[in-house]
Amino acid sequence: MLIDGESVVDGGDGTIEVLDPATGQAVAHVPAASAADVDRAVTAARRSFADGRWHGLAAEERRRILWRFADLIAANFTELSHIDVVDNGMPLAFAEWEIRSCEAWTRAAAGLATQIFGRNASTMASGGGTNMHAYTLVQPVGVVGLIVPWNAPAGNLMVKLGNALAAGNSCVVKPAEETPLSALRLGELALEAGIPPGVLNILPGHGRVAGQAIADHADIDKISFTGSTATGKHIVRSAAGNLKRVTLELGGKSPAIVFDDADLDAAIPQVAMAIFANTGQVCFAGSRLFVQRGAYDKVVAGVADFAKSLKIGSGFDSANLLGPLISSKQQDRVADYMQRGRQQGAEVVTGGGLLDGQGFFVEPTIFANVHRDMDIVREEIFGPVLVATPFDDIAEVVAAANDTRYGLGAGVFTRDVNKAHSMARAIDAGNVWVNCYGTIHPSLPFGGFKESGWGREMGAEGLAAFTETKAVYIQLEG
Ligand code: NAP
Ligand code: MG
Repeated sequence: MLIDGESVVDGGDGTIEVLDPATGQAVAHVPAASAADVDRAVTAARRSFADGRWHGLAAEERRRILWRFADLIAANFTELSHIDVVDNGMPLAFAEWEIRSCEAWTRAAAGLATQIFGRNASTMASGGGTNMHAYTLVQPVGVVGLIVPWNAPAGNLMVKLGNALAAGNSCVVKPAEETPLSALRLGELALEAGIPPGVLNILPGHGRVAGQAIADHADIDKISFTGSTATGKHIVRSAAGNLKRVTLELGGKSPAIVFDDADLDAAIPQVAMAIFANTGQVCFAGSRLFVQRGAYDKVVAGVADFAKSLKIGSGFDSANLLGPLISSKQQDRVADYMQRGRQQGAEVVTGGGLLDGQGFFVEPTIFANVHRDMDIVREEIFGPVLVATPFDDIAEVVAAANDTRYGLGAGVFTRDVNKAHSMARAIDAGNVWVNCYGTIHPSLPFGGFKESGWGREMGAEGLAAFTETKAVYIQLEG
């Protein structure tokens, strides 16, 4: 663990065995933080916040240090990518995208550190005073808890951490118990970059112990959480104790919608990778495919052929585009959904099974003949499982696409500019991609409508989520 700038090897909650999901074998052991460890980290973070060793620096200095942090992420690109392949099982190409994104997001955050401005309202007359100088002061929230899942271990963390630090907060991080390794390495690099001790604390641990202690802690001012909708709701209840600010990036059941006027040959691999990338363990995975009736057979057959052609195996073999699921528990969960899909009457177009042998592999799977009430249509599976449905017109597909408690992403494939803009307005989702899928840029906000979350990460909105705004009134003489 990293607490107050020191490496701590004994966790009060024992040890976590870290597995390589491609083999099921242990690759490392890390300490598991207890509530007492969390308390020590919060005390260190609070001390660092109180004496201003980070937020009290000139903004340009925070920018310089964050930029150096990004330089160190780039300098350790191969090591960090390999860590997430071993820890998560993802294909190396995906891990490389992830680490390049971490570098880009950290550089964007470095720039934002010098772009934190309030508003000037100096001409305002109020409360009888006429010569009033008033302005807003934008300040860091204080001590923030960052709790992240395992599906993109480094990325899930850095999408929060850059802006949290840019705004001047002190942080207590809990990576997922399955994937603590890249967070620990990033903590070392942050120290090397010059982020002062105590400002960034990294505590691997179990959600119900370390995560819960962060959610409950009376001296944490904000939680930024990424994970399941169920845990997100639980965090909201825990955070009520001291009314922590809460930002939530949660689950999804995102639609990928193909109109019959689209460039189908271009759309097919995109809608396939929208669900199969990272073995479906992506919050914005395009897990519900809607195809206009005239193109339905061609697109579903094309996506099925793509699925059958996917090489499955270790992320270190560059031929493999599909890695394992994160754990045997997740493998069981996905298998259970496949079973329920069959039992509830869906037709298996391709896949539908687990792969024998070591590691937690499943087949990329497509179900057709699905109905809105089926579990595989309603629930987030977080595996490479796609449900396909035909539609006839825009009104029908808008209603079907929005018929979900989630609202994270949506893909729309069409050559008709009118349909593209109409769909962008009509879909209830935080991100709409037209003739592409899953593009993320650090200048734009990322987040969800409905039960996909609260608030946004990245961009100006993501920075604002790590600040408090104060109104200051100064009565001038005369
Ligand atoms: P999860 O169970 O909610 O876990 C996420 C994190 O919360 C982990 O660090 C977990 O610790 C911790 N946690 C668990 N119980 C807790 C508690 N009582 N108090 C505080 N923290 C607690 O999520 P998951 O199933 O592992 O991850 C997959 C989910 O994340 C999917 O639903 C996916 O859609 C979502 N996700 C969303 C985004 C997004 O940006 N919207 C991005 C990626 C993933 P443990 O590791 O010990 O369980
Ligand atoms: Mg692991």
